[in-house]
Amino acid sequence: MTDVSAVMALNSGSSSIKAGIYQRSDVSSRLLSVEMERIGLVDGLIRTVDGSGEPIIDAASFPDFEAALRRLFAIVEEHRLLAQLSAVGHRVVHGGPDHRRHERVTPSVLASIQRSSGLARNHMPQALAGIDFVARALPGVDQVACFDTAFHRTLPAAAKATGLARDIADEHGIERYGFHGLSYEYLCNEVSWLDPVERGGRMIVAHLGNGASMAAIRDGISVDTTMGFTPNSGLLMGTRSGDIESGVITFLMRERGMSVDAIDLLLEQQCGLRGVSGTTADMRELLKNEATDSRAAEAIALFCHRARKTIGAYASVLSGLDTLVFSAGIGERSAVIRERICDGQRHLGIVLDRERNLANAPVISRQDSRVTVRVIHTDEEAMIVRHTIDLVSRSIPADEPTPSMQPTMLIAAH
Ligand code: ADP
Repeated sequence: MTDVSAVMALNSGSSSIKAGIYQRSDVSSRLLSVEMERIGLVDGLIRTVDGSGEPIIDAASFPDFEAALRRLFAIVEEHRLLAQLSAVGHRVVHGGPDHRRHERVTPSVLASIQRSSGLARNHMPQALAGIDFVARALPGVDQVACFDTAFHRTLPAAAKATGLARDIADEHGIERYGFHGLSYEYLCNEVSWLDPVERGGRMIVAHLGNGASMAAIRDGISVDTTMGFTPNSGLLMGTRSGDIESGVITFLMRERGMSVDAIDLLLEQQCGLRGVSGTTADMRELLKNEATDSRAAEAIALFCHRARKTIGAYASVLSGLDTLVFSAGIGERSAVIRERICDGQRHLGIVLDRERNLANAPVISRQDSRVTVRVIHTDEEAMIVRHTIDLVSRSIPADEPTPSMQPTMLIAAH
């Protein structure tokens, strides 16, 4: 059994790092959290919260991820926590066909993550940089890869398939994997902690941040989700188009002579709220401007339309609905977006309480609403750290597939 006194969760995004350090014996309290934003740009930012709970915000500029990680480790050292770290867990966006469960990082696991890094080109290089950095800075410290796709390994065949010709799909492992799994898992556990009956029910979870997705969950198990082979399908997002007809892509390639890279850039960074509004990917800004800017209003309307449509579809997939959860930046903080998504959904049993919704209350549905509508803050780092402790605490051969933590164990650890 490995003795873990402090454990770090490292959640690397396309231009950000969120790190949390927890004491192994009490994962409910964070010893330190550090968020670094705008990596690669001149006007970066570091937000540090230590045991005192007071956030300290510093301007900084990091030319690249290596520089940001060096700074992160210096901050951890300043708080005298570096020597206490005995395990680091990483969020790895795509597990591909080879990683359906979270795993300890071994040379063979690392090689296979490297092989599948092309599946999420905006996120995988950062996670790999984190694993490599920790291996160099803290040799001998256990590392765990927590895959965002792992939660969706339960998708039924019909939800997994893309409709592509079988031989091509099989050759390349092309199927719908789903993402935001750590967030969904955390939120499911929160719901079961708040009301054990609801966890056994039919639930739709809406993770609405810069990246946005929804999942249909029955009995705590993912049965459908909007992101698929890559994180660029389903809902409209900050800069990603979400669902788009394949015909549009072939049209652009033919008519405009667009290259694969140009198409990738367009669909991942120049579409979504930013592309439709022509101004910004930031929902707060769009809401401020919508009264005077018809394109901002159109972008918001499209965002809400896709979300409403998906709720209807997933209520059908689940044969009814008991719980709807809103989470992430937009889902947790925007009463007006929640209201527009839920408006006119009484036929599904969704009726919001106006006051509670405006207050971002934990339950925002009316007492007589058949569906309980909840707002829950998501915490991917908490989930990473729980899995990391679980995996490094087991004396198992490093290459053996490791089952993920059962919800009851997670609640106990909460
Ligand atoms: P990420 O996917 O990068 O973690 P977040 O979960 O932080 O993103 O969500 C960012 C989004 O949340 C942005 O579009 C931001 O404008 C939006 N947001 C944050 N606070 C509010 C608010 N009070 N009202 C509306 N949108 C908000």
